[in-house]
Amino acid sequence: MQRSVWGWGYEGVEVPQLEKTRQMLETIFPKPTFRLPKPNVELWKSSLRKPRFPEPKIGTCEVSHDPKERMMHSFGKSFRDIARGVLGQYGNVVDYVAFPTSEVQVQEVLEWGEKMAQDGTPVDLIPFGGGSSVVGGVEPLIDSKRVVSIDLSRMDKIISVNLTDMTAQLQTGIFGPALLRGLTEYDKITLRHLPQSLSFSTLGGWLATRSGGHYASNKTYIDDFVVNMTIVTSKGIVKTSNLPASGAGPVADKIWLGSEGTLGIITECTVRVQKEPTFKCSSIVTFDSWDNGVNATRLISQSGLYPTQCRLMQGMEAIGYGLIQDFVEACLVLGFESATIDGLEERFMQPCLDICLENQGTILKTPKKDESATDTFRNSFITAPYLRDHLIMDGYIMETFETACSWSNFPKLDEAVRAAVASLGKPVMLTVRFTHVYPDGPAPYYTLTTQASSPTSLVSDWDALKQVVSDALIANGGTITHHHAVGKDHAQWFVKEKDPIWIAMLVNLKGFLDPQGMLNRGTLLPSKLLKDFKSISSKI
Ligand SMILES: Cc1cc2nc3c(=O)[nH]c(=O)nc-3n(C[C@H](O)[C@H](O)[C@H](O)COP(=O)(O)OP(=O)(O)OC[C@H]3O[C@@H](n4cnc5c(N)ncnc54)[C@H](O)[C@@H]3O)c2cc1C
Repeated sequence: MQRSVWGWGYEGVEVPQLEKTRQMLETIFPKPTFRLPKPNVELWKSSLRKPRFPEPKIGTCEVSHDPKERMMHSFGKSFRDIARGVLGQYGNVVDYVAFPTSEVQVQEVLEWGEKMAQDGTPVDLIPFGGGSSVVGGVEPLIDSKRVVSIDLSRMDKIISVNLTDMTAQLQTGIFGPALLRGLTEYDKITLRHLPQSLSFSTLGGWLATRSGGHYASNKTYIDDFVVNMTIVTSKGIVKTSNLPASGAGPVADKIWLGSEGTLGIITECTVRVQKEPTFKCSSIVTFDSWDNGVNATRLISQSGLYPTQCRLMQGMEAIGYGLIQDFVEACLVLGFESATIDGLEERFMQPCLDICLENQGTILKTPKKDESATDTFRNSFITAPYLRDHLIMDGYIMETFETACSWSNFPKLDEAVRAAVASLGKPVMLTVRFTHVYPDGPAPYYTLTTQASSPTSLVSDWDALKQVVSDALIANGGTITHHHAVGKDHAQWFVKEKDPIWIAMLVNLKGFLDPQGMLNRGTLLPSKLLKDFKSISSKI
């Protein structure tokens, strides 16, 4: 199967729930007034802008000018990216794609970039894993004059596994399925980290964006599995300490986790692995009141039971995921799994269900061994991105906003998001679920669907939506992202959210590690801020 140039995943994947979803949307919105044709990739390839400088010779590293590769490396997979792909808006593509196969070749690319800058012909270098960014993380800036995407997918080996320490040393270009398959084949072990985008994203992307996995509590971020990392920077190769724990000063890994390709290229990582879970159980609980559902979820998150699934969602979402048939205010999916502990139903699930009952919950599905309501949720959630591609062609704008806040602040933040959406003055379907829960607060995940008035307003209407909701998150005690990262799309809110001294420290760190400012310019830190960084740091 061929990877789609403009859409999610593979070309031509059937979406069984498409017609049903279209019918459901037509009960809420007017019938779509336009349906865009399937993108004509061949036509766009033939009219693509030529590379703006001669093909570089970068040591022994392969460099491609292939139009399809350049298109695929110029966008991520956000709504905005897919919409522009459908509309054929490939005006600002990268000039070349480099495919390093070793740390030495990554170093050669950075050295070449340094030389280009010294020669007065600066180039932007954008690390690329699977290209599943939903925040403009792999896209060139509009003012870039020369851009090379650095595709790390050929650095995809499992280097070693240590079953005594339960660790695996991996190259970071490895995609999710190869990583899971390799570990299973090795000795039925796994990295317990399953983002929805697993099939089309890489370990390096997860590290660089601090991805959030499918499990709802306890170890939610990729950070929790990292032992050490190797990072190639313009200053040289950094290896963080390879120890199970160390109290010796600040933790070096944390500088690069979430650095989104701006402070160096992560080429290797040692991760903690574990035995694959064999015991599983799950339950579904419904609530006639959303607040009761929130309360029960809070108490479970504070109980020390750490369910692997603890997803509270509004009834509409639960129906969409096939979890329930009839509307309720709130639906909670609970799950536990373990490689070693049998009897999860009595020891872990039952105390959670007791909390739900105390909060007027109705147990819809009682826990049974090996039965998995969480699998139903996971499966429909894995095919959802394909559905989005089709609905975009029908003129629907579908966007998600994910954040985190304290439990006490959630009602205020939720109200503010709803008010922001209402301020747009158009019909919007808005649902929320908690993707992750912590003892001190949830990670609310909002899904918004609305209609564009014309094909040309798909992107501008999305921009308006993004602006009002993101402003509301920052003004009301939320974070601009719980796990989707900052990228270019969130950079303006990132600098508002964080302390100015921390931002200045990051800017100075970038100045040290990437003195030419060539690594993923405009991602994380707005490019204007980087230009002015000397004057900013002098004021602090
Ligand atoms: C349908 C869908 C579902 C998603 N579900 C989730 C989810 O469940 N959880 C979640 O956290 N995110 C999710 N995402 C967002 C995205 O998949 C994550 O951000 C993921 O971690 C990106 O990995 P990637 O390999 O595709 O990285 P890319 O998109 O290629 O890159 C992301 C960023 O990391 C940088 N980068 C990539 N590799 C390296 C490297 N080796 N060294 C340094 N920098 C690097 C890039 O420059 C870029 O800034 C989803 C996205 C989509 C489209």
